[in-house]
Amino acid sequence: MQINGYEIAISENKLDEIITEQTLPIELIGKDFAGYQNLAEGDKKALQYLVNAGKIMTDVAQEQDHHMNRIMRRELEKAAPNSTHAAKALKLFQMMSGVEGLNGIDSKPIEIFEGIHGFAGRNFYPHDMSVEEFHRIIEQMLNEGKDSEVKKILSARTMVRRNGNELKAIDYTEYFSKEFSEIANLLELAAHYTTDELFKEYLGWQAQALLQNNEDMDMLADKHWAQMQNTPLEFTISRENYDDEMSGTICENAKLSAMLSARGIEIVAKDMLGIRVGIVNPEGTKLLLKFKDHMKTLAALMPYSERYAQNVAQGGELKQTMVDVDLTALCGDYAQCRGAITTAQNLPNNDKLSIKTGGGRRNVYHRQVRMSGDKIRQKKLLDALVQKDFHQYFNEEAEHIFVIGHENGHSLGPDSSYQNALGLYKHTIEENKADVVSITFMPEYVKAGIINETTLKEVYTTWIVRLLLKSKPQPSQPHRLGDLIHFNFLLEHGAIAFDGNGKLSINFAKLPEVMHKILEETIAVQLSKSPEEAKKFIDKYSNWSDIHEHIAKVQQELGIKCYKDIRMHF
Ligand SMILES: [Zn+2]
Repeated sequence: MQINGYEIAISENKLDEIITEQTLPIELIGKDFAGYQNLAEGDKKALQYLVNAGKIMTDVAQEQDHHMNRIMRRELEKAAPNSTHAAKALKLFQMMSGVEGLNGIDSKPIEIFEGIHGFAGRNFYPHDMSVEEFHRIIEQMLNEGKDSEVKKILSARTMVRRNGNELKAIDYTEYFSKEFSEIANLLELAAHYTTDELFKEYLGWQAQALLQNNEDMDMLADKHWAQMQNTPLEFTISRENYDDEMSGTICENAKLSAMLSARGIEIVAKDMLGIRVGIVNPEGTKLLLKFKDHMKTLAALMPYSERYAQNVAQGGELKQTMVDVDLTALCGDYAQCRGAITTAQNLPNNDKLSIKTGGGRRNVYHRQVRMSGDKIRQKKLLDALVQKDFHQYFNEEAEHIFVIGHENGHSLGPDSSYQNALGLYKHTIEENKADVVSITFMPEYVKAGIINETTLKEVYTTWIVRLLLKSKPQPSQPHRLGDLIHFNFLLEHGAIAFDGNGKLSINFAKLPEVMHKILEETIAVQLSKSPEEAKKFIDKYSNWSDIHEHIAKVQQELGIKCYKDIRMHF
């Protein structure tokens, strides 16, 4: 079956298998949802405009991701009514929101068409440009004094194209002027109808930011956005730079890095854009705020707390809002589900101007994502690997409590200057720290009356079951590597054990002491500011042995739903 001259690379049988056996549906809320029906009429109208804006952002992100995405999508849509093979290929395209991508399990990307491959620079950079040529052109442009153009080329908000023997940067507001102005119009309409003053004001700033080639406008929009704690609706334009693998290669070129740094030019990876829309859930949000209130108490309990200043210092106000959200739309970058989908997201990231100039952050928890687990598979997994007595303590909602502790954990401990000093290992150590902070301090939430003893056991059990890995983690998977470290640490210190039948048991009484120990070691690594110490710590606890092979085998036999099907109803 050919589409636009390209053969579909995946057989119809294989596509059936992907869609029916390897896909996890994620049902977003519809108009029958109580939280929607309780909205004021104006907010209902606003919500629909915002979802429509999101759909346009999917188009933008597909263009950023691959130069063939939009054309191949259109051709698949044309062919789908007359071909089941094309219809199934279209389904996979929609699930990845692109022609190719990783599925989180296979080490190579899944490609829908023969001959259409991904690029390190996605579509941010010319797809026929190698890393060597990129570096050569940048060096030549610097030698010719074209510093200001190079600065734009290496900024987070430009599409880069060839210009004779050189490169030129096109600001997103220009490259996507048609889409951005449509989105801005929809935001203005939503601003008109919403009943919430702060939300109205934010949407106004955000609409302006989409129309002007000016990073200050993004900063102002971000600062307004991060202050929203009590608005009925959730709307986010996410800008995250994890997809571009071209810009960062310059960091490995010592000569070019030095030339750039001498000129004060920063290397920033390109932002992939996304839009998230939803309704703030008041009950869930109340729980989040209880956890937040407790953070100052926890800061005092951190190991070596006298040796560093924490951003939740006593007396200081944490510039952090947090909301639990029922989702109506995940678009653009959020829809590019390639293996994983996140259950919470704290923005803006550190590279953004609003953070650099003292703005706050907003953490949004995704209810429909966290409630989408495969219950039947979970039961089978427990039967295969966990002693019966502990099954009662496995509870998805308890994982949510762990995630709250994790997100808050990032705000505790040594600051980012310590974290970043660990170089290649910084993410693994920091994600490991956030996990460990969460679990170590769970008993403190019991003392404070925020959760009870049973919930504590559920958090422990659910977390430990999540440490049963499906495959050996790669160095590029900091969260999974952290899981392996925790598992090995707990096993070595007797907080967990396996019986003769390969079934897991948990020693609840021993956990607090063992967790304190790993937290102490982790903080010591961050305080050392030494990549060697970080590597030593990781190597010591990331041994992959027979028990891991056994667990991974069971996991794989149960099947892995590595594709996500986000189902929107607005
Ligand atoms: Zn994290």
